[in-house]
Amino acid sequence: MITSPKSGTDFSYISHLACSDCGKVYSASELNTYCLDCQSPLLAHYDLDGLRKSLRREDFATRPWGMWRWHELLPVRAASHCITLGEGDAPLLRLPKIGEKLGLTNLFLKDESGNPTGSFKARGIAVAISKARELGVRRVIIPTAGNAGGAMAAYAARAGLKAHIFMPKDTPVANVQESRMAGAEVVLVDGLISEAAGMAGEKARAEGWFDLSTFKEPYRVEGKKTMGYELAEAFGWTLPDVIIYPAGGGTGLVGLWKAFAELEALGWLENAQRPRLVAVQAKGCAPLVKAFKAGASFCDFWINAHTIAAGLRVPKSFADHLILRDLYESQGTAVSVSDEAILAAQHQMGEDEGVFAAPEGAATLAALIKLKQLKWVKPDERIVLFNTGSGLKYLS
Ligand SMILES: *Cc1c(COP(=O)(O)O)cnc(C)c1O
Ligand SMILES: [Zn+2]
Repeated sequence: MITSPKSGTDFSYISHLACSDCGKVYSASELNTYCLDCQSPLLAHYDLDGLRKSLRREDFATRPWGMWRWHELLPVRAASHCITLGEGDAPLLRLPKIGEKLGLTNLFLKDESGNPTGSFKARGIAVAISKARELGVRRVIIPTAGNAGGAMAAYAARAGLKAHIFMPKDTPVANVQESRMAGAEVVLVDGLISEAAGMAGEKARAEGWFDLSTFKEPYRVEGKKTMGYELAEAFGWTLPDVIIYPAGGGTGLVGLWKAFAELEALGWLENAQRPRLVAVQAKGCAPLVKAFKAGASFCDFWINAHTIAAGLRVPKSFADHLILRDLYESQGTAVSVSDEAILAAQHQMGEDEGVFAAPEGAATLAALIKLKQLKWVKPDERIVLFNTGSGLKYLS
């Protein structure tokens, strides 16, 4: 259940959108996509001073569980426009056995696998679909590596919108079936998400359908950022030392960093210490790792991308500049891991801790093992791995 605020308080404190690169301002009351001047993602801005005066950080814990308890910091302007399937408030688990084996005393897993449609994509898509419908959209389209399509199909069904999905023909079968089950039109593409994106973009322009591609609309990242609020709350309004995250399109990483910046601006954090962000990619598709190692501000398109971690098969993110900026700013790093290491880590998460992780989630453990060997992480640091989805979605 999503409750309305006490009178005199706004449901959403969104003020405007601004280009993440050139700063050009756009309205949050009209349908916008990305910056038309410089083709960069738009980010949402909020009246944080107003919010600080009317709410305390403790108030959020008293509300019904779920992502929408952060509605003042989300873009949807009325409770009646929030489409929900019960997303958010994923558990923060300790990983005691793996921690002991690696010699790490404060190892955690943010387990997003229990979200609707079995992945953290539910958070971003719930917000994007809600806001699109609030602004009058009737049809949505998305190119996807898999889970975003499944989530979009479900939330579009719930919202009464028609959904069109373009995915590579070798996308995990669960994604195809869950999308069709929710009444979406699914087009299987002979190629990667980049080819699917080209086709979906053309279709969107020709038909006037709204394109929910990663960072080509401003609101999926807003849903993803709630993972950052939950982490801060769970750690008593401090932040962990290291966050290890499987990066594809980058909404998760950019969302977390945005959440921390907002909490800091609100004065709700106990100290100014921010985590080091680690972007994990697969050896067969590691554009961010290559760019990070070169100290570059943009990624090259990764040719011949291949990995079992379907969500990481993104040859170039539309938000590459933004992701790299956040990685550098956090003094983080970027790590690539082989599919063999991902499979071994997936087994270890299951056998040691009872978690059937998505390959993308398991990749974070594979990366941690490398970082421990390199002494990049210290034994007593608070380290959070992200399991972004359920292993059940990859059965064939
Ligand atoms: C999409 C996806 C990712 C990559 O997420 P981004 O936030 O777009 O970088 C990671 N894991 C899973 C399971 C995914 O579906
Ligand atoms: Zn711009």
